[in-house]
Amino acid sequence: MTSLEIGRASLRDVPTYSPDVTSCAVDLRDNINLFGTSPSALAAVRAVDATALSEYPDVAGRTLVDALATQLGVSPDEIVTGCGSDDVLDAAIRAVAEPGAVLAHPSPSFSMVPIFARLNGLVPVAVPLTADGSADADAMLATGARIIYLCSPNNPTGTITDANIVRRIVRESSAIVILDGAYAEFAPELEDLRSDAPALERLLVVRTFSKAWGLAGLRVGYGVGGRALAQAVQKSRGPYKLNTVAERAAVAALTHDDAWMRAQASAAVECRDRAVRELRTLGLSPLDSRGNFVCVPVTNARTMADALATRGIAVRAFTGLPVFGDVLRIGMAPWPVIARVVRAIGEILA
Ligand code: PMP
Repeated sequence: MTSLEIGRASLRDVPTYSPDVTSCAVDLRDNINLFGTSPSALAAVRAVDATALSEYPDVAGRTLVDALATQLGVSPDEIVTGCGSDDVLDAAIRAVAEPGAVLAHPSPSFSMVPIFARLNGLVPVAVPLTADGSADADAMLATGARIIYLCSPNNPTGTITDANIVRRIVRESSAIVILDGAYAEFAPELEDLRSDAPALERLLVVRTFSKAWGLAGLRVGYGVGGRALAQAVQKSRGPYKLNTVAERAAVAALTHDDAWMRAQASAAVECRDRAVRELRTLGLSPLDSRGNFVCVPVTNARTMADALATRGIAVRAFTGLPVFGDVLRIGMAPWPVIARVVRAIGEILA
């Protein structure tokens, strides 16, 4: 019997997430924090004792939940944590929809979302972004989906969907709306819906410590929403997803490193805006990214990414995307690194 015959039939043509591995000296593919990691989180990890490893963590990550609840002014039972925001998204999809239900997602957007939908037996429906990179509210609403996923700033475009559009989609649908804010810390000008989500009942705002906090290796994410919604996600997520070391680090980061996080995020934003200006002088038209990355439409993304790889620079190539065609997504790093990337792109174009 082959492994294909062992797996659930409906999983057979679901792709496995397998980002290309690279040996490039400069790796800008993952939109992680290349400016550093939360110092208090690192200190908390270094201070770990034996019981932190031998004992089970809290079933639901209660210490982090309480710290977040205090900071956001919501009730602890309106928050659910997870092993990265991937876990929260996956559990949320499973929590609120029966197999066969429709999940509408913008396209292009976070590639794991249609995969999580299919892994949970749902039917993903891709709704193209508008030309300016916002979610298309009318088209999203017209799907009649049980779950509407939104991502702002969106991966891979960096473009935003205004909070008023999110509110409108919640108001004018009966869907569960998931707002993925993995890059929200890089767009402090965007309205933060976390504290409002519980009152909206059907909105789950999902966040991560992987990006602005520099903790991708620890796998910490969370969602904030109505009590019934958060508790349903908690149930479908299962116990012990947040490990003790990750929880201590995230709480330390949240408690002591808010100013650090904001400073790193604003350094990434400064770099991004400078990169956009310099790429424009090369004749390119980067999108209006509000994340810690730039998204640049190019004629042939694969060729361009390969040419950058030969110069020791790894970026993410997307080909044939709806609305935007071929693009390069380039994560931000301290300016000397990005200056090198811009120079290399200039050479390749020349
Ligand atoms: N949402 C978006 C939009 C992302 O880009 C990512 C990671 N690339 C995630 C969620 C998942 O992040 P994590 O599981 O590390 O929290």
